[in-house]
Amino acid sequence: MKKFDLIIVGGGRAINLAINAANRGKKVAVVEKSALGGTCPNRGCVPSKLLIGHANVIRTIEESDKHFISATIDKIDTRKIFDTNNKFISFIGNYIEDNVPKGVKIFKGEGKFASDKEILINEETITADKIVISTGSRPRRIIHKNAWSSDDIFPLRGDVPKSVTIVGAGFIGVELANFFDAIGVKTTLISISSEVLEREDFDIRTIFKQEFTKKVDVKFETKINEIDYNGEKFKLHLETSQNEKYIHETEVLIDATGRMPNTDALNLENTSIKVNAFGYIERNEFCETNAKGVYTVGDVSSKYTLQHAATYEVKYLEELFYGSQKKPFSFKYMAHSVFSDPEIASVGITEEEARAQNLEYVTSFTDWSYSAKAMSTRLDYPRTKFIVNPKTYEILGCHLIGPESSSIIHQVLSVMQIDNDIRHLSDMLYIHPALNEGIMIGAKEIIKNIKSS
Ligand SMILES: Cc1cc2nc3c(=O)[nH]c(=O)nc-3n(C[C@H](O)[C@H](O)[C@H](O)COP(=O)(O)OP(=O)(O)OC[C@H]3O[C@@H](n4cnc5c(N)ncnc54)[C@H](O)[C@@H]3O)c2cc1C
Repeated sequence: MKKFDLIIVGGGRAINLAINAANRGKKVAVVEKSALGGTCPNRGCVPSKLLIGHANVIRTIEESDKHFISATIDKIDTRKIFDTNNKFISFIGNYIEDNVPKGVKIFKGEGKFASDKEILINEETITADKIVISTGSRPRRIIHKNAWSSDDIFPLRGDVPKSVTIVGAGFIGVELANFFDAIGVKTTLISISSEVLEREDFDIRTIFKQEFTKKVDVKFETKINEIDYNGEKFKLHLETSQNEKYIHETEVLIDATGRMPNTDALNLENTSIKVNAFGYIERNEFCETNAKGVYTVGDVSSKYTLQHAATYEVKYLEELFYGSQKKPFSFKYMAHSVFSDPEIASVGITEEEARAQNLEYVTSFTDWSYSAKAMSTRLDYPRTKFIVNPKTYEILGCHLIGPESSSIIHQVLSVMQIDNDIRHLSDMLYIHPALNEGIMIGAKEIIKNIKSS
């Protein structure tokens, strides 16, 4: 049996750990059944975010009237958009493969556990002192066998469909819906509830809903009773919460109803590794599973199924294995963005969560119009929401909706990470009149609100 210092099962984000361990002279094996790099560069964050640039330009032209400019779009060369996106996917796949150092042995295939410390791969059994399970997650694919999931969209193939219906109103659903709608595909989003992005803070998601539904047709409180597919079109038998029944036809159906962990094929029954009721691997505060020396990171076990969460966890394991710090793992604050139209960014907790946790808090909810740069966008919806502990001035949550929110939020994240006190954000110097003044106004407002509370 071949013995390694480290085996990584699932070469997504954890490929970085393999590379860095090999660069430290460790003998490393990576077991990967598909493309190295995993979901993010091949069929997730990166190809989906590359589409945003096209969608943003289209939206800007569509809204040029707001700037007293009449403009129309002559042609959208979707073939070129698709080809450019696909070129990136094949480039990145080869780039990762070509840059794996010699000290990393790649086993192509599906890894399974023979015991706590033995991995069976293509009829060979390998072992290591340390094993990391980082097999990620995959779309649940529950609505229809011919429906696409985000995995089937990238690489983008064939002709652009005339109509697309997306089921699921989470971040993947609203990002894809914005793109398809922008390039001129008749786009429908089906939400089982009365909300889109229901985990966002109420004030932010309310504005998102108002703006998003100006463009995308969203069918709220709607369930699908039955789906027929004739090889060309889907017929969805829909029913609203008011018991209204009707048929909705669509060329392409996308299932964005959620993801599930890749644990079912690992033969974990041969080990002492435990999974929770949803199939995610259980781990302790050192990211170690129930089996000693077997660790887990990323979507397959994390509280947050985000690439930057996986990156942070992978960095933690590298420090735990080869560095001097042996501290328990924790995310100090988690941030995320929704790269749709409008764009949203958030760090910390929502007001609903603060209320549910019985925390003492004060809020502010301010618009960005004080900033001339924000005014120049001629958008009236951008807002900042702060949730702050009035005794300590600690920022519990910050939520933004507006252009470049995903970048601006890093200012708040930095303060929270270093010395979490809202007063830094109200006292510091701001470049006038940058969009970040939207943070300054919110910070000053909440300090006023705290003083008067
Ligand atoms: C459409 C979409 C958009 C997204 N956008 C964002 C975004 O904007 N920002 C963000 O932070 N996150 C985003 N995400 C989430 C992000 O992609 C994931 O959180 C991240 O890729 C998780 O990394 P991972 O290493 O845990 O898993 P993965 O990257 O999925 O890697 C797991 C790897 O394990 C392999 N594998 C599975 N089982 C086995 C086995 N038994 N043997 C061998 N190999 C196996 C898989 O083939 C895969 O390569 C998006 C996801 C999707 C689907």
